[in-house]
Amino acid sequence: MVTQYKNLIDGQMMNTGEWLDVVNPATEEVIGQVPKCGKGELDKAVAAARAAFKTWKKTPIEQRREAIMAISGAIKENADELYRLLTSEQGKPHEQAKGEIFGAAGMAAAQSSLELEDEIIQDDDTRLHRHRRVPVGVVGGIVPWNFPVMMAIQKIVPAMLSGCTIILKPSPFTPLTTLKIAELIADKVPAGVVNIITGEDDLGPMITAHEDIDKITFTGSTATGKKIMEGASADLKRITLELGGNDASIVLPDADPKKVAEQLFWSSFSNAGQICVAAKRIYIHEDIYDELSQAIADYAKTVTVGDGAQQGTGVGPIQNKKQYDRVLELIEDAKDNGYKFLTGGDTDPSGTGYFVPLTILDNPPEDARIVAEEQFGPVMPLMKFSSEDEVIARANNSEYGLAGAVWTANPEKGVEIAEQLETGTVWINEYLHLSPFAPFGGHKQSGFGAEYGKEGLKEFTYPQVITVKKDNVPA
Ligand code: NAD
Repeated sequence: MVTQYKNLIDGQMMNTGEWLDVVNPATEEVIGQVPKCGKGELDKAVAAARAAFKTWKKTPIEQRREAIMAISGAIKENADELYRLLTSEQGKPHEQAKGEIFGAAGMAAAQSSLELEDEIIQDDDTRLHRHRRVPVGVVGGIVPWNFPVMMAIQKIVPAMLSGCTIILKPSPFTPLTTLKIAELIADKVPAGVVNIITGEDDLGPMITAHEDIDKITFTGSTATGKKIMEGASADLKRITLELGGNDASIVLPDADPKKVAEQLFWSSFSNAGQICVAAKRIYIHEDIYDELSQAIADYAKTVTVGDGAQQGTGVGPIQNKKQYDRVLELIEDAKDNGYKFLTGGDTDPSGTGYFVPLTILDNPPEDARIVAEEQFGPVMPLMKFSSEDEVIARANNSEYGLAGAVWTANPEKGVEIAEQLETGTVWINEYLHLSPFAPFGGHKQSGFGAEYGKEGLKEFTYPQVITVKKDNVPA
């Protein structure tokens, strides 16, 4: 019998009697079951979060920090079990799963040091104006399947730190590691402060519409983000949306192909390309295009695609069948249109596991679906450019605005280009690095609001200004 994982509601691990299967994307075997929650369980979790909010919001920040550090510690102490479980449900290779588990523990610890201090706006003989931040209340957190643990922590930690309580809903595709963490922290956090419930996609709209939830923090696709914004408008819930991206990397002619080929490869292919901030369009200057595209393709041939639990695997499967079919469709479309492949393209959906060969395209047109749409798979279109103005315009020609990168021997030039990109994050000569202290968020249709840093923490609070009139102000 497969392991059954329980939900965390009001400090108790519980189930509903109805179960959802969770599949390993490398083997297509059912590896666990999780409770199928509906409105009844959601109401219980919200009531527990509402009750806990009364005391949690007044709990000194030092104590809130201690609880966050206990979560971070529990994740680190159990990292071995957690990363293996994460690979089995998500697909990413063990090394990358370890990175996510330790990264989540580290992010939790680092962010627990943040604080939103009171700000004295005016203090003179007429008035004292003090600006403080107060927690919004009960938060609904909804997360995707590509970084289930990191995303869960990214919702839970700032909610707790700000004095909010939370109901978190993992993706139905990847709930197991999060529920294992729920079990580990159940006695480390006061009852009702953190609740983790699982269900199908229809549980999401129930959370968005719930009359006693004050804020939604969501990471996922732009299409779902729009539905959430619409749902949250009924009672003006506060929202933070971290959505899709179609990030461009720009490689200037002074970049050294030997130095950047491998890094560029991983900027697209880490986690099988299923990263919101993965490089999804690579623009290479025509002077180095041939040499660099060949170096990337040569490196790709040294990387093994396979089960993330096998030693030596560099790229795992696509996480779920729906996404697998979508990536295959984009590759088929590229083949039908006669675009040239440097590697990959030879897909075989008849085998076991949602594996896609590493696919690199040679200078497809800008309006190719595989360039214009977010692929979210192990696909890398390489495109030639000849002038800076042209490549900046092409990079910005997207409804998305999440992140981007510039690769160059001249970092100052890189910054000059970065300042012209319409995205929330730009890296020079690296990729995917996020600081716990810097705001991360999307421009345009990549998001609304920000996570991380004080800016991210503020999103869980309202401003409140208290004004004290002094005696010498005439009535
Ligand atoms: P998704 O939007 O399909 O699902 C995300 C979550 O929303 C899941 O928990 C799902 O059950 C829930 N959901 C589905 N329909 C809902 C609805 N109508 N109302 C409320 N909740 C609903 O996204 P996904 O396929 O799981 O994830 C991939 C997407 O996430 C990609 O577009 C990727 O770029 C994006 N993403 C963004 C970031 C970021 O920080 N910007 C990070 C990771 C992933």
